[in-house]
Parts: sequence; structure tokens; C-alpha cells
Amino acid sequence: MKKILLLLALPILAQAQKIDKIITRSETERIETYLASDELAGRKPFTPGIEKAAQFISNEFEKAGLQKTNGSYLQTFYMVKSKLNNFTATIDGKELDAKQVAFFTVEPTISMDEKSGYEVATFQKGESFVPKIYKLMATSKPTIVFLDESFARYIPALAKNGPLNPTQKNVIFILSNTIPTTYKVTANHQVDKLQLSNVVGILPGKSRPNEYVIFSGHYDHLGIGKPVQGDSIYNGANDDAAGTTAVMMLAKYYAKKRDNERTLIFAAFTAEESGGHGSVYFSKQFNPDQVMAMFNLEMIGTESKWGKNSAYITGYEKSSMGEILKKNLVGSQFTFYPDPYLDQNLFYRSDNATLAELGVPAHTISTSKMDSEPNYHKASDEVQTLDLDNMTEIIKAIAKSATSIISGQDTPSRVDTTKLK
Ligand SMILES: [Zn+2]
Repeated sequence: MKKILLLLALPILAQAQKIDKIITRSETERIETYLASDELAGRKPFTPGIEKAAQFISNEFEKAGLQKTNGSYLQTFYMVKSKLNNFTATIDGKELDAKQVAFFTVEPTISMDEKSGYEVATFQKGESFVPKIYKLMATSKPTIVFLDESFARYIPALAKNGPLNPTQKNVIFILSNTIPTTYKVTANHQVDKLQLSNVVGILPGKSRPNEYVIFSGHYDHLGIGKPVQGDSIYNGANDDAAGTTAVMMLAKYYAKKRDNERTLIFAAFTAEESGGHGSVYFSKQFNPDQVMAMFNLEMIGTESKWGKNSAYITGYEKSSMGEILKKNLVGSQFTFYPDPYLDQNLFYRSDNATLAELGVPAHTISTSKMDSEPNYHKASDEVQTLDLDNMTEIIKAIAKSATSIISGQDTPSRVDTTKLK
């Protein structure tokens, strides 16, 4: 009996030694320290800092031996930034000012009136703003929207909209309690095409190459802001250099192991903080039905509310993925918990949501104490505030927890999209 037990125990021990050699504290520190360094200036989209970060991640993927797509690790796409130069707008002969009008447009010139064939939409007093605004952004026809004056405070925010998709149809917002009989709008915008890149590397599966497992984190952050005690760089060490570091470490680990039956996709997303544009573009590059699981990693650099060797999974009950991960960690010191901050809607606030909305079992793993994390979205989110030993253990635990999904032995249940918000 003893001998058999020894034989059984040996491969587990061998694997444990190997993971400890590949996922090390010194590697965690090297990668994390560079991503969160002042040199990258807070990794804000459309700045040289984020380009440097993308280059660094590409180099690490190359060193690990991941495959490229279309000859590059950079998955590049474009967005459009429009700046209003001047406009005129009249409704029923009355001229409007800048406090009453806003535009979503990617066109340099707009000239329209009530005969131009625009869809007409309204915001009635008391309507809830956010869901409808997203629907309007996704409109397939040019639209003019008349907002009740109770929405006046939203006009400046609408006017300051972030970069738009190049396929965005014109949406013109006018403050008016009623739909006017006649209206006429002209506008000139300065329109600039802006480049964004996700960084994506692939490790093809041995026997199930068409079944994908995604490991992701967002590598963008907030850039440079108002100085706090002389520090103006929002380094985003925890948010989300930590998750991005984990993605690179896991890439290295699985590339060395080379026993994945399913195809592994490692993705560092851009522009999460400014609307999730990176994951949206990424999600359109393949058939979501082929994605068996998505491990999105966000803010794993500090201790969770339960202390070391623990993390939580957002949207825990939305698929069986959490149970599978837990099962694979039985006997280890590590515990996954369901997200304890349900009122914060974390499931919907990171890049996993984009894929979950397509039915993919896509969850975010995090340790961030969302009710009390002192450095969240502050200039003080620096490497020195992270527990790199614990973070290294978390990365190892994620690797172990994914074992049976990567081997094809377990397949998490799909997310029921009819039950999502
Ligand atoms: Zn984040």
C-alpha cells in the first residue's frame, strides 16, 4: 500500500515544485514594479505610457512563447474623438445655447432638420437615465433626443463624451419638454481617429483547440491627475497592474507546462476604466460559444477581507465555474468566496461583463476590499501598498483552480443572459 501511495503522491509533489519555480515572488515583483512604475505615467489610453506597457506585455508573451494573431500580439482598433467647434440649433424658431445641446458624433459636419429622417426619442421626467443612454449609443439610425428639462444636469457630461466607436450614428441631445414641430441643427466637429490596442497571446489546445479558456486583466489606468502630497501619477499598482501581472505569470506557467487540452487565450485589455472598449472589441473577434470560461483578474494585490490565501469571485451563482474552482483547491490552504460586495455590482463593473452578456461563464477574481480599500482610484495605489507574497500565492491558486477546466474535464455552465441586469 505504501508504495502505491508514494507513487500517487509523487506527480502532485512534482507539480507543486514546478509551479513554485515558475510562479515566483521575484517574477511577480519584477513585472508588477515595471507596470506600476512612474515611467508608464498611469497607463492612460492614448498616451505614450500605455504604449510602453503594451510593448512590455508583448515582449513577455513572446518570451513565454505564446502565439500571435495576424502577426502581432497587439490587437489594434480605432476609436473616434470628436470636439465640438461650433453649432446652431433652433426648435420652433427658438435658438438654443450650449447648455441645451450635446452631440454623439463621428462626423465632421452635421446639418439636419425635422425632414432629415432622424429617429425621434425622448427622455420623460422621472425616466432612469443610464440604461437608456447605452441603448441610444447603440442606435442603428441617426437619432435626435428631446430630454425633459429635469435632465439638464446631464448635458455637460453628454457633451464631454469619451471616444466613440467609428460606427457610431449621430445622436443629438436637445433639452426640450416637448417634441417641437420644427427643428434645425448644424454642427462642426474636429474629428480625430485614435488607436487603441489590447495585447493578446495564444497557447493552442492539444486536443480541443476550438474550445477557449481566457485569462484577462486590464492594463490601462487613469494616467495623471491632481497632485496629492506631490504625487500626480495614478500608478494603478493594484488596479489593475496586479491582474495584468497575473495574466503574464499564468501565460508563462502554462506555456512551460504545455499540457493544456483547451486553447488558452491571455488578454491584457485597454480602456477598461473609460468604458470597457478593449474587451468589447476583443469579444467580437471570435464566437463566444467557443469560450468555455473566462478568468478576469482585477485587483489581487491586497489582502482580502478574510486575510491571506483567499479571494472572491464575482457573479458566483451565475455559473458553476466558482464551484469547479473551489473543488480544484480542496486540500490546499486557499479559499475562494462568493463576492461579498453585492451592492457594488462588481460583476457588471469589469471586463468579464462583456463576455458574460454573451453567455460566457465569465467572472472576475479579486481581493479588493471594496468598502474600505484605502488606495482605490487614488494616486497612492503604489507597489509598496501591495502584498507581493500573498499575490504570488493567489496567482498559483488561480492556476491550480483552473486545472480541470483547462484539461477539458470540467465545463462550467453558461451564464443565463435573461437573468442579467
Ligand atoms: Zn480595474
